[in-house]
Amino acid sequence: MTSSKKNIPNITRRTVLKTSAKALSFALLLTEVDIAWGAKILGVRIWPSDDYTRITLESDKPLPITQQILTNPDRLVVDVQGLELNPTLKDLVAKVKPNDPYVSQIRVGQFQPDVVRLVFDLKEPIKPQLYSLDPVAEYQYRMLFDLYPSTPPDPLMELVKSSARKESALVKSNEEVDLIAQFATKKDKPSAPVAQAIPEVKEAPAPAKYKRLITIAIDAGHGGEDPGAIGSMGSKEKHVVLSIAKRLRDKIEDESYMRSFLTRDGDYFVPLHVRVQKARSVQADLFVSIHADAFIESHAKGASVFALSQMGASSTMARWMANKENASDLIGGINIKTQDRQVANLLLDMSTTAQIKDSLQVGNSILKQISGFAPLHKGKVEQASFAVLKAPDIPSILVETAFISNPQEEAKLNDNGYQDRIAEAILKGIKDYFSKNPPVARRANT
Ligand SMILES: [Zn+2]
Repeated sequence: MTSSKKNIPNITRRTVLKTSAKALSFALLLTEVDIAWGAKILGVRIWPSDDYTRITLESDKPLPITQQILTNPDRLVVDVQGLELNPTLKDLVAKVKPNDPYVSQIRVGQFQPDVVRLVFDLKEPIKPQLYSLDPVAEYQYRMLFDLYPSTPPDPLMELVKSSARKESALVKSNEEVDLIAQFATKKDKPSAPVAQAIPEVKEAPAPAKYKRLITIAIDAGHGGEDPGAIGSMGSKEKHVVLSIAKRLRDKIEDESYMRSFLTRDGDYFVPLHVRVQKARSVQADLFVSIHADAFIESHAKGASVFALSQMGASSTMARWMANKENASDLIGGINIKTQDRQVANLLLDMSTTAQIKDSLQVGNSILKQISGFAPLHKGKVEQASFAVLKAPDIPSILVETAFISNPQEEAKLNDNGYQDRIAEAILKGIKDYFSKNPPVARRANT
């Protein structure tokens, strides 16, 4: 009896999301079978972002739900079976921020004695993904409502637009450099009368090195439902790494020949494969994932840099770290059905040998910079099978800036000066790498 009871929620959850009519009959069946049910809501959270707005209901038991999308005005109606309205659930109403891109307000009410109705009033048409997750890490059962815009923004178009002025400045200065180089060469010929008019140039300057802007994808690890590692003083990795990522972004924006792209710019979760996809969609020349993890031993210290491996991990620690990072999706929450397709696609075009070679080079260049002011956990780039480093065509590295599990390093990670030095070291490593490996001419239509 106990085991069959336990199975009901799983069957129901899987079936519920397909069609609401079918789901409703299942839900009714469920209440008949298991009348004493009644889930308790433990937490409600809302994570707005331009990518999507996520609403999380955490409960002690799975929540059987049905959903309908209504238009004029746009809204999503969700009925939760076997639930009584409680103050935690009512809190959801107050948690909607006025600047939420997709949700204008949420209404919550006891629709029937054992059915709570949630109405999400929407600012524009959305494509919802509703799914449930089993308990993991600190969480019990979670029901996730991911509300995606029907017309998603195009990150490449936005990046091209925001960097247009810089791009044309680079082109213009390249033309000037080329022109001076041209005149300087002509000046060497004694018979050229034009040489008189050209100002004195000691040596012919090298032709412009960077023909186009170099795009750096900066990936702040974790976010939203996934806090990452948590230090003994309570610092969350997701906040620390976002802060470092933004510092790096500002430094890159100050360079005349680079532009930056953040895979997340706020506190929300981005699945690992989506981070890779985003970097590819903006045709990034480099992908840098920033972390500050915990390790089993609290005395572990120092920065490390990781690259992808095709043949097993380079050390036990690297394997441990990759497993830990790859679990991010489980904690952060992804819709498994979408994920499977993406992973399959990604594996098909795995031609990563060149990618790894470049990643090791840029990684070592960054390690060298960090070693100037901070201890290194290991003096060379380590390798393991990190899901977030699997772009087949973009050099990709993961920087563990320090161990948040080490109390001294946790304090450093919260220090503005240290965050800035780390960002500066990453920038210098990147610049050093590209000065030796200038990117080839633009691949596609930008
Ligand atoms: Zn991490």
